[in-house]
Amino acid sequence: MLCTNCHKSFEDNQIRCPSCGNPVATSWEILKTVYPPEDDVIKGLLESCEIPVILRSREGIGRVQGLSFGPLAEVMVMVPQARLAEARELLASQQEIEAPGETKE
Ligand SMILES: [Zn+2]
Repeated sequence: MLCTNCHKSFEDNQIRCPSCGNPVATSWEILKTVYPPEDDVIKGLLESCEIPVILRSREGIGRVQGLSFGPLAEVMVMVPQARLAEARELLASQQEIEAPGETKE
């Protein structure tokens, strides 16, 4: 990938140019839609594996409409398209660890 600002090349999975800090045009995909505080948990998990995360809340819309609960309080967890599969795998493995003794009838 080439920086549009300083024209240096760097790895594809960066969100900013390592040499000048210019944000890279990346297409972001919705990994999952969650409610707080799960958004922070997922963000921490992904960032610990060096996957960039954007949390996009719909709260702003809710405030305008006078609503602060229900579906409008949900948060969209977004990751770069190139890291989506990796992020999904990470999330799936984490959920297995969190619920080890769940019994199925
Ligand atoms: Zn640059």
